[in-house]
Amino acid sequence: MIIIMLGAPGTGKGTVAGILSKELNIPQVSTGDIFRKNMQEKTELGMKVESYISKGELVPDDITVKIVENRLKEDDAKNGVILDGFPRTVKQAEAIEKILEKEGKKIDLAINLTTPEEEIIERTSNRRVCSNPECKTVYNLVLNPSKVEGICDKCGSKLIARKDDNPETVKNRLNSYFLQSSPLVEYYDEKGNLYSALVSKTINKMGVDVAKEIVEYIRGENI
Ligand code: AMP
Repeated sequence: MIIIMLGAPGTGKGTVAGILSKELNIPQVSTGDIFRKNMQEKTELGMKVESYISKGELVPDDITVKIVENRLKEDDAKNGVILDGFPRTVKQAEAIEKILEKEGKKIDLAINLTTPEEEIIERTSNRRVCSNPECKTVYNLVLNPSKVEGICDKCGSKLIARKDDNPETVKNRLNSYFLQSSPLVEYYDEKGNLYSALVSKTINKMGVDVAKEIVEYIRGENI
């Protein structure tokens, strides 16, 4: 089963994808995490993508598609994946469709998360992530703090703020989202495989709640 996660930064894509990955027993593939790991390890790819990510711009399509194409060839992805943060442009969507078609596969479900903009700003500025690349647990200083301030509950590593979570870069990331990524919502709606959900404190629904609903939907619809 191939699931993709759409939605602006800070809507909870990672949280929902993580829960779905455990429930459905297929890996979560986050292009953002792959890029960050490469930046941390200062690989050739990491150096190439750093300038885009630090400005809140999208990494070029050809680089991103190749990464996903290679990742899908790995053993653990043969029964499916949850693509968290990919595709982010119509070009990427068209490219992945062709790649999957060759394997007789398709995108089974596109999940679109929405959150009011003020909440996105608040959430991204309060987001802290585990600095251990094998752990990457995500916390929120207000909604979901760690037990000991600044330390990951799961592995004891230091918690850090993502460099691109500063308000200025978040504004650019939101711009990139509305200009380049939001047309994907209509793209998948027309294909008939879109599931949209609002993640917001205004309706008392966070990523975990929405993830539970999606698991029920997938099982009910036999996707
Ligand atoms: P994320 O962790 O999904 O918020 O991604 C962090 C950053 O990585 C984004 O702001 C982009 O600069 C870059 N990125 C992640 N996924 C993609 C993608 N599918 N296409 C282009 N850039 C991406």
